[in-house]
This record gives sequence, C-alpha cells and structure tokens, in this order.
Amino acid sequence: MFDVLIVGAGPAGAIAALVLARAGARVRLVDRATFPRDKLCGDTVNPGTLARLESLGVAEDVEARGLRIDGMLVTGARGVAIEGSYPGGTSGRAIIRRDLDWLLLQRAIAAGCQFEEGVSSRGAILDHGGHLPMVRGARVSHGGSARDLRAGVTIAADGRRSPIAFGLGLARQPDRPRRWAIGAYYENALPPAQDSTGTYGEMHVRRGRYIGVAPVPGGLTNVCVVKPSGRGDAELADPARMLARELEEDPVLHDRFAGAHLAGAPVVLGPLAVDVRSTAIDGLLLAGDAAGFIDPMTGDGLRFATRGGELAASAALQALEHGWPGVHARLAADRRREFGAKWRFNRALRAVVASPRAVDAATIAARVAPSVLRAIIATAGDCAVAYYSKFCNK
Ligand SMILES: Cc1cc2nc3c(=O)[nH]c(=O)nc-3n(C[C@H](O)[C@H](O)[C@H](O)COP(=O)(O)OP(=O)(O)OC[C@H]3O[C@@H](n4cnc5c(N)ncnc54)[C@H](O)[C@@H]3O)c2cc1C
Repeated sequence: MFDVLIVGAGPAGAIAALVLARAGARVRLVDRATFPRDKLCGDTVNPGTLARLESLGVAEDVEARGLRIDGMLVTGARGVAIEGSYPGGTSGRAIIRRDLDWLLLQRAIAAGCQFEEGVSSRGAILDHGGHLPMVRGARVSHGGSARDLRAGVTIAADGRRSPIAFGLGLARQPDRPRRWAIGAYYENALPPAQDSTGTYGEMHVRRGRYIGVAPVPGGLTNVCVVKPSGRGDAELADPARMLARELEEDPVLHDRFAGAHLAGAPVVLGPLAVDVRSTAIDGLLLAGDAAGFIDPMTGDGLRFATRGGELAASAALQALEHGWPGVHARLAADRRREFGAKWRFNRALRAVVASPRAVDAATIAARVAPSVLRAIIATAGDCAVAYYSKFCNK
C-alpha cells in the first residue's frame, strides 16, 4: 500500500511527488502518457517559477537546457510595442515542455517515487461507507486491463480536463469565456526587429485574441494563438491554415514569418477555462491545472502547478500524520495567500482581452504610460516572488 497516489506526472504531479518522496512518504505516480511526452504550452518558465525550482534544487537542468528570457515584448493595435525587462536581475527560461516535464519527472523518480506510465485513470474510488464520502484511490486501466490503485491520499494532478475532478463534479467548464488555443513550432522565423539587449517572450494582443511567440532551443519558435470559439470553430478543423492566416495578416509578425515553416503538426486545445468550485472531499487533493485554469495569457500556469504541487504535498503529509480535519481549509488558505492576488490579476487581464473596447483603451494607456505595461509584465512574470527568493530568502 502506498501512502500517496498521484495521478498525472506533469509539473504539478512531479513536484508533489518529489517533495513527498523527499519527506519519506511512499509515493506512486502514474500517467496515461509515455514520457517524454509533448504538451501544448507557450514553453516559458517565468522568473517566479524558476526561483521556486531553484529553491527545490531542481533548476540547474532547466537553466542549462532552456534559453534565458529577459522580459516580454507586448504589442497592440496602431503600432504600440513595449518591451519590459524583468526587474531586479531576474530572468525566466524558454524550454520545450517535452524536455521540462521529463527533467522534473526524472528528479521525482530519483527522489524515490515509483512511476508507472501508460496508466490511465478512469476516476476516483469513492467510499460511501463512512460518515462522509472519502476518496480511497483511483480506478485505472493499463494495457487493456482495469485495476484499483488505493492509497491514503490521492492527488489529482491530471491536468485541465482532470477526469478525477470532473468525474466527482468538482470542476466545470464555464459558459464564458470559451477560448481555444492553437499552437505549433516554426522553423526559420526571424527575431523581433527591436533593438533589444536580451531575449524576450512576446505577447501580441489583437481584437478578441492574442498571439504568444517565444524562441525555444533548437532554433524553433513557439507560436500559440488564443481566440474565442464560434466563428472560429470551422477554422479549428484546419489549424495549420488558421495559423498561417493569423501570421500572414498580422502587421508585426507578417515579415518575420514570411520564410518560416511548420516544424510539426499544430495542436488545438479548448475550451480553456475550467472553474473548480470545491475540493473538500477527504482522501483527495487537487494540484496544478486540475485545481482550476483561468487563461494562458499571463504565462504563469507553471508557477501555479509547481507551487501548487508543493502545497498539495505538504497538505498530504499533514493528512497522513494527523488525519483529515482542517487539511482542506488550510490548503485553501495557503493557496489563497500565495495565488489569490494573481488569480484576480489574471481574471482582470482575461476580461480586458475579451473586450475590443477595453483592448483599445489599454492600447492608448500603454502609449501614454508605458510604465504601467512594464509593471503588468513584471506581475505576470511573478518577478516579486523571484526577487524575494533571490535576495531575501537565501
Ligand atoms: C496555450 C497554452 C500556453 C501556455 N503557456 C504557458 C507558459 O508559457 N508558461 C506557463 O507557466 N504556463 C503556460 N501554460 C499553462 C501550463 O501549460 C499549465 O498550467 C501546466 O501545464 C499545468 O501543469 P499540470 O501538471 O497541472 O498539468 P499538465 O502539464 O497538463 O499535466 C497533466 C498530466 O496528467 C496526465 N493525465 C491526464 N489525464 C490522465 C488520466 N486520465 N490518467 C492518467 N494521467 C492523466 C497527462 O498525460 C499529463 O501528463 C499554457 C497553457 C496553454 C493552454
């Protein structure tokens, strides 16, 4: 019998497994995929996430394999283009998720967790025998046969469409916003013409949609278009064409991608937003995207995933040692303290991008007061977390 079963070996699951295994817990980590595996993402580890990985002692490989990212270039309508360096000497990394997730998973395995791949969860095992229902593990299938994996604590780190959270009715996709992401890697894209002193991630905000661009190792460029569904639905059937048109028609990206070509098939994901109403079922903890997803625009999902994995791990240790009373309340309070302000910030930005008038107003504001946009870039990058960790927390 394992102390903890973790379903999903992305960043949230791998970090939870790492922390728990280091604390001496017997951890079983399963994933339906075979690693290394691909994951649609902007591939940017922001400064706050990188600082957290440093404090866990797992940033070295990420720093070595990733490209240093010094800030963000944000463009809007009417030629507005503002470059914001991350303040205080902080930086992030661009690294393909296939590599990042595999590096973190290897660290978790080295710390002592037992990892099984190709194991797909069908949902939680819910025990109704006691006073309140309790999760006792997960029902999984592996190579065509089903079995129950039982544990004292189950952590669902199974991503945005978490079969465990949706299966228990804890998560739902809101009616609005209903945005989709279409992402791909390109070869031969040109860097921005800006006279930069470093390497920058890019966010090109357009009416009703945005395009994230990031240079990644291997001479590739990551492009993610995020747009509402509706008119776009038919377009999603041919994502390569849709991406080509977006890049071709974009005044900033047109020339830079004129000689570029796709390095692989585009990936489509959506609707993106997931709301989680409550997580308070004893025996179960949620981490990463399984605990809710707002929008990829701020490029900080990896921070919620890695730090959320750590917080779930310490809640699991508390439950193993003292039982479940107070565990959910404390985890919810910890998450609110760490992420509450950022969730509000992310929701506000999501609302701005959804409204063409708000995008126009923000464009004017950015032209008049670029320092406001630079402050937004620093907030999105979780630079305060990085700065504190670098200079105050040694
Ligand atoms: C378009 C886009 C761009 C983004 N760009 C960025 C960015 O640049 N920077 C950033 O910080 N964040 C970004 N994000 C957010 C980031 O990708 C996520 O927040 C992050 O991947 C969450 O990690 P996770 O471990 O919770 O989930 P995931 O990385 O999704 O991992 C979940 C794991 O669970 C496994 N799984 C799923 N179902 C099952 C099952 N039934 N049984 C077993 N295993 C299962 C999956 O195989 C997967 O390995 C972006 C997101 C999107 C959509």
